[in-house]
Amino acid sequence: MIDFDDQVVIVTGAGNGLGKAYALEFARRGAAVVVNDLGGSVSGEGGSDAAQSVVDEIVAAGGRAAASRESVATPEGGKAIVATAIDAFGRVDVVVNNAGILRDKSFLKLEPEDLNAVLDVHLKGAFNVSQPAFAHMKAQGYGRLVFTSSNAGVFGNFGQTNYGAAKAGLVGLSNVLAIEGERFGIKSNAVMPIAKTRMTEELLGPLADRAAPEGVVPLVVYLSSRECELTHEVFSAALGRYARVFIGVTPGWKSDGLASAEDIQANLAQIEEQAGYAVPLSTLDELKTVLE
Ligand code: NAD
Repeated sequence: MIDFDDQVVIVTGAGNGLGKAYALEFARRGAAVVVNDLGGSVSGEGGSDAAQSVVDEIVAAGGRAAASRESVATPEGGKAIVATAIDAFGRVDVVVNNAGILRDKSFLKLEPEDLNAVLDVHLKGAFNVSQPAFAHMKAQGYGRLVFTSSNAGVFGNFGQTNYGAAKAGLVGLSNVLAIEGERFGIKSNAVMPIAKTRMTEELLGPLADRAAPEGVVPLVVYLSSRECELTHEVFSAALGRYARVFIGVTPGWKSDGLASAEDIQANLAQIEEQAGYAVPLSTLDELKTVLE
């Protein structure tokens, strides 16, 4: 059995939905869990004791947990969340960056406030919590980071420019941390979940019944575990299907000398041909495939 005995796991946004499901399962598998949530609405307004309720549930079931009501959206909040883990349990082994809000609007209706709030929680929130955690992970030579991306960011979805930009940004953040963390035993991966939560139940319609948050839990638990040797990857968990998602580069077309716009037009079919694609693991890796 995959266990988290002697390990400390931080789950952000764990007062509801997916984060709560992760927190309960980590605790069941022996982790001491920091349940972080400011307890606001789907759009990020207000606050409540949602984190404490989840802690109470874990403790009632015989587990170990500590609540943090800090917002991930500021560097101070991120530091305080990691400090809760250190103060209560003495270390941090795993961070699941899961906190999120929605401010969906079509592009021309998007106000700066809707952009900033979404970037602050999803993208900067993951920086704010992961950076102080990374320092502890580096010192102990071990860590697991999981970032919550979305199909809306990787593939696109109408009305979600702010959310999609933040969610695609999280893939970039995870990829670079996978490279920077390699020397220190730190693995970093991203997930793209589909689950029925308060955020999505209206959007999913009849599919909602097949999308319990518990269906995403096994993937996140595995990626957070000692057993996981994967890093620098993205996975989709949707309706019971678990799949790797990657950005590949086609073999492409090579010009002799400087190409013109007309050359690009003339060679589009070869530029777009997917057969024989590569999946580079860094900028240098891509350049190597070009030189080969
Ligand atoms: P949810 O609303 O149930 O959970 C999100 C939690 O994050 C809430 O409890 C909320 O209070 C908390 N949160 C919001 N702002 C916070 C802040 N500043 N600091 C701390 N906590 C904060 O929604 P969910 O569906 O469980 O979403 C979890 C994550 O999964 C989000 O990042 C979401 O974007 C992502 N996601 C969900 C789906 C899906 O199908 N449910 C799909 C793709 C991505």
